Amino acid sequence: VSCAKPIRCEFNKNPMESDYDVIYKVLVIGESYVGKTSLINSMRHETYTRNLMPTVGVDFVNQDYDVDGHRVRLQIWDTAGQERFRDINKFMYRGTKGLLLVFDITDKNTFDSINYWMRTLAEADIDSEEVIIVGNKCDLWWQRKIKLAAAEKLAKYHSSKYFETSAKENTNVTELFSQMAYDLVEANNPKLL
Ligand code: GDP
Repeated sequence: VSCAKPIRCEFNKNPMESDYDVIYKVLVIGESYVGKTSLINSMRHETYTRNLMPTVGVDFVNQDYDVDGHRVRLQIWDTAGQERFRDINKFMYRGTKGLLLVFDITDKNTFDSINYWMRTLAEADIDSEEVIIVGNKCDLWWQRKIKLAAAEKLAKYHSSKYFETSAKENTNVTELFSQMAYDLVEANNPKLL
């Protein structure tokens, strides 16, 4: 009820054992505590943990999708614990095709920082093909500080899509990552679709 519906969701979401046609590197970034690690866990259908310890170091997981018969692997990097750009090793950004830029809809500071992230990425000449802005924790609708219209406006300004998710309740999480896989295929090789 309180979560915006995904803009588009036309996806096969059958994870596969092995083997893929294309692989895309996707980075999950945003301020501390917005739920980056939780989103990845939720995408993996791993149990939501109420009090996750802040992530130390950087890690990635692979998740496979079937985009209209094409086997797509997302290599998803969690940057939690290294939120400040200057602390993030440049190698982490190398080859990044997709960015999930996450804020917490109950925390205005994390929303305001989206512009900061966009600027920093631009200044560092990091030019990803697909950026999706993500308003997480939409299960906490009564604590909402950021109106849907404001978030959509920001996303439009940055030519991004906007999703609202709840890692806790697994709302729109599959759709979010599926959309990223779909968009990356479309951006890289439209004739595949
Ligand atoms: P990260 O630092 O961005 O990786 O954030 P975490 O994934 O560690 O989450 C920070 C805190 O927010 C943890 O206590 C999570 O349990 C909580 N959290 C994450 N996602 C959600 C969500 O969708 N809803 C609610 N209510 N809490 C969340």
